Amino acid sequence: MNVLDAFTQMPRYLSVMDIIRLLWIIPTVCAVEEVLMDSTTATAELGWTIYPSLGWEEVSGYDENMNTIRTYQVCNVFDANQNNWVRTKYIRRRGAQRIHVEMKFSVRDCSSIPNVPGSCKETFNLYYYESDHDTATKVSPAWMENPWIKVDTIAADESFSQVDLGGRVMKINTEVRSFGPVSRNGFYLAFQDYGGCMSLIAVKVFYRKCPRIIRNGAIFQETLSGAESTSLVAARGTCIPNAEEVDVPIKLYCNGDGEWLVPIGRCMCKAGYEAVENGTICRACLSGYFKPSQGDQTCLQCPINSRTTNEGAINCVCRNGYYRTDSDPVQMPCTTVPSAPQNVISIVNETSLRLEWTAPRDSGGREDVVYNIICKSCGSGRGACTRCGDNVQFVPRQLGLTEPKVHISDLLAHTQYTFEIQAVNGVSDQSPYSPQFSSVNITTNQAAPSVVSIIHQVSRSVDSITLSWSQPDQPNGVILDYELRYYEKSMAEVNSSVLRSQTNTAVIRGLKPGTIYVFQVRARTVAGFGRFSGKMYFQTMTEEEYNSSIQEKLPLIIGSTAAGVVFLIAVVVIIIVCNRRGSDRTDSEYTDKLQHYTSGHKVSPGMKIYIDPFTYEDPNEAVREFAKEIDMSCVKIEQVIGAGEFGEVCSGNLKLPGKREILVAIKTLKSGYTEKQRRDFLSEASIMGQFDHPNIIHLEGVVTKSSPVMIITEFMENGSLDSFLRQNDGQFTVIQLVGMLRGIAAGMKYLCDMNYVHRDLAARNILVNSNLVCKVSDFGLSRFLEDDTSDPTYTSALGGKIPIRWTAPEAIQYRKFTSSSDVWSYGIVMWEVMSYGERPYWDMSNQDVINAIEQDYRLPPPMDCPNALHQLMLDCWQKDRNNRPKFSQIVNTLDKMIRNPNSLKATTPLSSGVHLPLLDRSTPDFSSFNTVDEWLDAIKMGQYKENFANEDFSTFEAVSQMTMDDILRIGVTLAGHQKKILNSIQMMRAQMNQIQSVEV
Ligand code: AMP
Repeated sequence: MNVLDAFTQMPRYLSVMDIIRLLWIIPTVCAVEEVLMDSTTATAELGWTIYPSLGWEEVSGYDENMNTIRTYQVCNVFDANQNNWVRTKYIRRRGAQRIHVEMKFSVRDCSSIPNVPGSCKETFNLYYYESDHDTATKVSPAWMENPWIKVDTIAADESFSQVDLGGRVMKINTEVRSFGPVSRNGFYLAFQDYGGCMSLIAVKVFYRKCPRIIRNGAIFQETLSGAESTSLVAARGTCIPNAEEVDVPIKLYCNGDGEWLVPIGRCMCKAGYEAVENGTICRACLSGYFKPSQGDQTCLQCPINSRTTNEGAINCVCRNGYYRTDSDPVQMPCTTVPSAPQNVISIVNETSLRLEWTAPRDSGGREDVVYNIICKSCGSGRGACTRCGDNVQFVPRQLGLTEPKVHISDLLAHTQYTFEIQAVNGVSDQSPYSPQFSSVNITTNQAAPSVVSIIHQVSRSVDSITLSWSQPDQPNGVILDYELRYYEKSMAEVNSSVLRSQTNTAVIRGLKPGTIYVFQVRARTVAGFGRFSGKMYFQTMTEEEYNSSIQEKLPLIIGSTAAGVVFLIAVVVIIIVCNRRGSDRTDSEYTDKLQHYTSGHKVSPGMKIYIDPFTYEDPNEAVREFAKEIDMSCVKIEQVIGAGEFGEVCSGNLKLPGKREILVAIKTLKSGYTEKQRRDFLSEASIMGQFDHPNIIHLEGVVTKSSPVMIITEFMENGSLDSFLRQNDGQFTVIQLVGMLRGIAAGMKYLCDMNYVHRDLAARNILVNSNLVCKVSDFGLSRFLEDDTSDPTYTSALGGKIPIRWTAPEAIQYRKFTSSSDVWSYGIVMWEVMSYGERPYWDMSNQDVINAIEQDYRLPPPMDCPNALHQLMLDCWQKDRNNRPKFSQIVNTLDKMIRNPNSLKATTPLSSGVHLPLLDRSTPDFSSFNTVDEWLDAIKMGQYKENFANEDFSTFEAVSQMTMDDILRIGVTLAGHQKKILNSIQMMRAQMNQIQSVEV
């Protein structure tokens, strides 16, 4: 390869320096000479071949250092036609391609020889002859150019004029010639004299090679030089240990003179290693030092708060309690969490608060400290604090505050809060400890309630308007009452009248017919009035409107079939029972009901209450208010899953814009409906839409603007509870069943708090989702109407149809539907659940059920039902509704059972599959009496004491064995008394069994 070749094959990424080196061919390392033959080292005669015999002559002599050497001399200057050859011995090539010959010789100056002929020469010729074997003889190869190859004619730089025989002063020339390429195993050299006087003092034959070298992080092995002096032999380098290639290929070129040229590519010490000893070794970083990446750089000392675990570290790990974020450079010291913010100042303003603080004393060594505010509300100071709800506002924000201040608003009035100001930085989330914080306790002041935002008209007449409004979003305390300001629109505001209401509804009387009035409402707490709402305009009826509306309503009032509806509506609207005692009114006229609704009952002031859609003059208005209209295009009906009151119930999907698709149940209104059916159908949505509780079926919305009309609710995968339990008879643990009951009770408590009376609580009206969450459903009213005779569960009674088995006696007898009657129904649901969907009172007729209940008989515990649960059922079935537990108490009782499952262990043993007769709740536990007489007194059968004693039934043991015949025999003749005694004896037996089982 010549220089040009080397240049054109150069990779593009040669540096300027490389190119300069290449062009100037600056050798980087000196060559190594490998001697093939050296005449000066010969210890005996050289014995080279001479031709002709009178030419060259081997002579012993001395070199300039007076070492003995063997030389060849010739000096036939006076004889013409000289052609004297001397041939070396066979010289092995040993891989060399280019051979160098260094000759030391002296030549006699021709002009210094007296009378010398003109043929005198001062030069000689150098030849070589290649041969694979040492086959030369005295005659072969022939003594002539070709077969010999001439290398050069060698002339002396200095010749000498005279031989100083005494001191052997000579002028010694040294010439080096080279030739190549040589390819045979070896060669001979020959020196031709053609008429000179000279002495060949020393001949050294050698080749050159580039030595093993470490260059640019790579090792290049020894490389023989090329055949030509301009040849460049490429050598591949390999990275030294712990170095990695950076530029490839890694090459050096060995030139004809055995010099390395033109380094290309390089290796560099890998991460964790640094170059030492002039780049020839990559040494592991010492302990306490690291090198993060491959390169020329040296190892660095570990940053503060970090250390290495071994030599050759590529990074330093943080000491305990110190951290680095992903974006922290490895050279950066490890940092820690900040200390707490300091000097917190709080400034309370009514229900707002300003907090300011100063930066933590120790930022942890970082610049990225921000602050988070944790808000805990501590109620009125009792009990534990809880995290504040979402409604509390933080400006500029709650988390990640960069400035040491925040403004907090929308707190509750008169409430203790604890605010924790946390300081966090980029490494806080790596610390196992919570951020350090400073806390401040504050108590908000009183504040007036916020503005009432919606007022709507419930109904109106010629001289009155009934309004209802929503509670302010921020009551800021207990709302004592509302103030309603109103005036004729045509009059000035100063003429306004004022009316107070303890609830969020009011009837404004004494108004002029057909007149528009302006209304504004404001709420009052102990902190005073809030601001008035915006103005709303409502108009009273004109006389004409009133007359036509009376005509429409007349049949309702007179008592046709629709009277039941009116009655029902009145009942639902009027009866507000939750947590209420006494003051039962018989409800009469239609016009009266609104008064009762608004102010006739004690409800918690300011509490949200249920509004009966039928109190709306236009029930469609109620649908609009409480149910969201859904576009049919968002609904995809999949399959029919049941039959509802008004049409099919389907499952499907609902995809509202911007929300993810959800499974839904779709109740449809079958075609051909009357306007009344449509209203009744949609009334369920107006009711459901007012509720928001995890145990109440959730209304997604309605489709009323296209056909079919639909009610869309959340989908409950397991359908109705009664059939679900029947399908899974005996499959659940008691705790699971109690969990279901707890959900139902929580939903009912919510309805009760909303003043809603369900009136049809039964397992068939509870829906179950895939997580076994039970939700109260079925808020339709139509099934109670008398003209519907399709369902035997609902028995016609005066004023509507009633599900007898589930209904409390006072509701059956005189329509006293209250949350307490819902509690009775809840007891039946408990029984249904614990018996896995058994029909309450089995196949007894409705009348028998009514009679049995009247005589204090109650359902016995279902098989395996814990006594505690049956006791709760019995409590729900207390005759006096005031003695029944409230739903809130039921929820608490069930919660206690769930927390303490041992309380559910005790059960009354029953022969499986056999139902105990109804239990007479008037029969007390016999074991609380000392004698049979006491027991007879307790069951109000004291008149038969003697009869029992005379026939030796004086121990409980004997009494418990009595049969009906025995009862007759001792003289109990009245059927009612016989039954009572027999039932009490059965009860005694059951109680004895229980005692025995406990003893066992
Ligand atoms: P209803 O008219 O509410 O009594 O519904 C009739 C039947 O449809 C019920 O007994 C259930 O089997 C079924 N159903 C009603 N609503 C849903 C719902 N939200 N999810 C699943 N099934 C339902």
